[in-house]
Amino acid sequence: MAAAAEIARTLLQAGLEALAMDAKMQKDELTRTIKFMPPLYKQRYLFVKQLVSKHKPKKVADLGCAECRLLWMLKFCSCIEVLVGLDISEDVMKEKMHTLSPLPGDYLQPSERRLTVILYQGSVAHKDPCMLGFDMITCIEVIEHLEAEELDKFPEVVFGFMSPAMVVITTPNSEFNCLLPTVTLFRHPDHKFEWNRAQFKNWAQDVAARYDYTVEFTGLGAPPPEKDVGTCTQIGVFVRKYQNDGPAHFEKCNEHVYKTLFKAEYPSLKDEKYLRTAVVNEVIWTAQIIARRLWDHVKTEYKKPCYDSETEPKFQPSHHSLKYFKHLPLTEANNKGLQPFINGNSVYIPLANIFSFPKVNKLCGTVETLSDLITGKVTLSHDGSAVLIDAEYENEEMEN
Ligand code: SAH
Repeated sequence: MAAAAEIARTLLQAGLEALAMDAKMQKDELTRTIKFMPPLYKQRYLFVKQLVSKHKPKKVADLGCAECRLLWMLKFCSCIEVLVGLDISEDVMKEKMHTLSPLPGDYLQPSERRLTVILYQGSVAHKDPCMLGFDMITCIEVIEHLEAEELDKFPEVVFGFMSPAMVVITTPNSEFNCLLPTVTLFRHPDHKFEWNRAQFKNWAQDVAARYDYTVEFTGLGAPPPEKDVGTCTQIGVFVRKYQNDGPAHFEKCNEHVYKTLFKAEYPSLKDEKYLRTAVVNEVIWTAQIIARRLWDHVKTEYKKPCYDSETEPKFQPSHHSLKYFKHLPLTEANNKGLQPFINGNSVYIPLANIFSFPKVNKLCGTVETLSDLITGKVTLSHDGSAVLIDAEYENEEMEN
């Protein structure tokens, strides 16, 4: 009896395991159909990044920015000068907002553009003048989190008041949910609704018509070919039809209701403080390379054997100090007063020579600006026309 019971138990166990395996395989099968590479959230950010690369907006805001991941990606787009994030949740934004701060490398090599990053805590249902004048506003997977009253106000706030040149809105397509095995009612417990394609299209076309925008629809996350459910994420790209009238908007609302959580000004060469440092560093670096080359050249010349008619080759006498080298011609460029030369213990490098180096040239634009930026920061000749590099060490090397 006991043996029979044992057999029955083993069979039951095996049966249950087989069932579990079946269920897992079925689930894997389903899951496989909805695995997106790269993950869909990244595809949404890349979609925005591509739009930014194409349209080159200078001022971009991300509404419902959460942990600022899209903002972090966008800060590398060199066309953007103002990057703003807005979210109702201060805590969520604070989690990763430090990633938006400039890094040591940004100070070592300041960018040519200015970049200001600001985070506000506030609602997309409220108007604040800090959101005026934007070229692009993104709202990625946010509208489905809005309460009915917020969703009602959203078009007037974003399209009527902020009225940026372009608005990008993404939201889940509920028709796709049948392919998502774990979804019961909505994809996320905080979603207040999820629209099918027709619902989103109607809403978006109505908003576009009311606020004088065009709208085009696209999506990300294609379904398997046999399923006609549309993409997993649906996207509306709205483009303003009219030229913005600018200052008139400021009269509409000038009360600040958003709270500033974070503000970072990135070091930029447009700021004279950073430009001066960059130029001084570049000039010192360039001048040292020129001086080093000159010394190497001098040393080679100096050590060249000089033959006299009947004796062995011999080197120039070691007591010859480089102090005795005066103006040292190297190329024809010297005729133009460009050529560096050694005088006493110093190498003289004319500013015109340093200016001919592409990086210095690009940073300064004119020799006058170069002179203005380095005066007082780099040792110059009496008349200010050349950078001086002290040659004491090199002399010692030669004399020993
Ligand atoms: N856009 C982000 C996060 C989407 S989750 C991404 O794509 O990863 C939705 C975000 O909208 C949440 O961070 C939530 O706090 C924010 N949110 C919800 N209601 C909001 C409102 N009324 N105003 C601004 N943000 C809101």
